[in-house]
Amino acid sequence: MSAMDHALDLLQKHWGYAQFRPAQKPVVEAALRGQDTLALLPTGGGKSICFQVPGLQREGLCIVISPLIALMQDQVANLQKKGLRARALTSELSYREIDQILDNAKFGGLDFLYTSPERMQSALFIERFKQMKISLLVVDEAHCISEWGHDFRPSFRNILQLRKLQSQVPVLALTATATKAVQNDILSQLGMPKALVLESDFSRPNLAYRVRESEQKEFEIIALCKREKSCAIIYCQTRKSVKELALLLHQNGISVGVYHGGMEANERKSSLQKWLFGQVQIMVATNAFGMGIDKPDVRFVIHYEVPSSPEAYFQEAGRAGRDGLPSYALLLYQKSDLEKLQLQLKRSFPSAERVAFVYRALFNYLKVAVGAGKEERYDFDLKHFCRTFNLPDEEVYFALKLLEQNGNLSLSEGFFQPTRIQFIVNNEVLYHFQIQNEAYYTLCATLVRSYPGIFENMTAIHEDKLLQRLKISSSRLYEQLEFMQKNGIIELSKKSSLPQLYLIRERLAESYLKLKPSIYLERKEAMQSKVAAMEQYCKAKVCRVIQLLSYFGQEAIPCGICDVCSPLQVNETDLLTFLHSPRTLSELIDHFAASPQALEAIIRPHLLTEKIKYKAGKFYL
Ligand code: ADP
Ligand code: MG
Repeated sequence: MSAMDHALDLLQKHWGYAQFRPAQKPVVEAALRGQDTLALLPTGGGKSICFQVPGLQREGLCIVISPLIALMQDQVANLQKKGLRARALTSELSYREIDQILDNAKFGGLDFLYTSPERMQSALFIERFKQMKISLLVVDEAHCISEWGHDFRPSFRNILQLRKLQSQVPVLALTATATKAVQNDILSQLGMPKALVLESDFSRPNLAYRVRESEQKEFEIIALCKREKSCAIIYCQTRKSVKELALLLHQNGISVGVYHGGMEANERKSSLQKWLFGQVQIMVATNAFGMGIDKPDVRFVIHYEVPSSPEAYFQEAGRAGRDGLPSYALLLYQKSDLEKLQLQLKRSFPSAERVAFVYRALFNYLKVAVGAGKEERYDFDLKHFCRTFNLPDEEVYFALKLLEQNGNLSLSEGFFQPTRIQFIVNNEVLYHFQIQNEAYYTLCATLVRSYPGIFENMTAIHEDKLLQRLKISSSRLYEQLEFMQKNGIIELSKKSSLPQLYLIRERLAESYLKLKPSIYLERKEAMQSKVAAMEQYCKAKVCRVIQLLSYFGQEAIPCGICDVCSPLQVNETDLLTFLHSPRTLSELIDHFAASPQALEAIIRPHLLTEKIKYKAGKFYL
């Protein structure tokens, strides 16, 4: 049986799919041959299968480096459901747990090991990595390695060091969107200049892109959602806009859900579920809503505000019409949106002095002295920090981002982690402890009874149930747990839903804190050119597909269905509705993306009957 037949068997057996998609096939083949590869497949194109099947088929462990904890956990859960041996090393695990997983990986007890790039920098990981038999090293969302990409994660840069320890292991890097410059950067940052680059066709023949300048975006959105009863996503740039727009839609009788990074993890989850199962029609969201979301029948994606890069726009718009049925992506903007983008850009790069100020404040806040703090981890409440030093949230956020990109620290998304416990003494010692500390008798007994694995593994505790059984308060429970931790009876990892702050480097004396030009100046320029590309996209009357694809270095022919290729036919009712406020002819042309002739054909009869009137250059009812 050929390697590819074997791969098809695995695909069928574990995933239940009969075929690889055309874009997947060459990627799988390259991975099976063990050739270093960079694969570009659009969002939803099926990148996971591209490495999971060969990873399983080739002998040894498949290591997957991925930037998002939530995504990682999702994929691991899916693999485990298929009976495959997969684990994720997130920064939330205890040393002991990581040690166990790595041991397991080393001795061939795992098929897939997912890791965040931060985690694989640890000395423990590197030591074990050297001894692992690795089939494939996968870099998912590989654009994160490039400063020129739209989502640079400095910790991705360490992959190269790791790779050098086992240079014979083939690398498969995957991403959805990368310009030619970013592609080349990925190859050089991964130390594989000669790697095969497989680029799938980015065109989406069923997706009609439309752009419209409008001073009444809300009004248009309401009308549209009412007309098209189908499933949709509306993207906003800020949480504030998400909340306001969602409220407005709700007040207008449209069923909406919201999704943004400021929501509790379980809130987000239930909102997502409702939308996935069609209980709400429209999801209003920030860009936190996206990666890994895979609903085939999204009929339209609206951008209520202009995103800051074509990369982001293309990915978000691309969530419409995965099922191949006619769908559209509408970008609404007004002049002030473009100004906002420029302002946002300025704000994203606070001055070096301000960054230094935040840096100093941060370490004072954490009570870390110069020279100390390296590789330490903290629960970090950004709001509290800002309040303490009376600093504006936004400036602090961007200053920390710059410090992150500069390699000083890293901030991970917050998500709820239950409290976890492991007994690290044997039964006998525990027994003596219980005798000496009678007050702890019930707690220990209940834990041992409720959680059989609690001597072997860090075990998540159902806090509510435990409190009910013990009839004590939560603060009393934690007092007791902390006491047992201090006495070396248990290992304790307390619940948290705060983002984690990880100090990569020790606190530097002020004069040593330098932001690299590639992080500050050059990057700022790169961001500027992305914003400029978005402005151009809004304004240029060139086929939308040609504009987008040429940005990514792909050739395209006019799509025939975007607002430039195929201006809309004007609907009379829409026109009359729009004329509820007085409009100039050019406003009408812009709004309906229609020719003056087409508009006049509708307006003229109404002018005669005076249903539509005309005064001072404006039409009105
Ligand atoms: P990406 O990471 O490229 O955005 P995913 O790996 O999340 O995409 O896959 C998107 C969806 O496509 C998933 O639901 C996946 O199960 C499905 N899929 C992938 N490959 C195939 C295939 N060969 N046949 C059918 N469905 C597939
Ligand atoms: Mg993916």
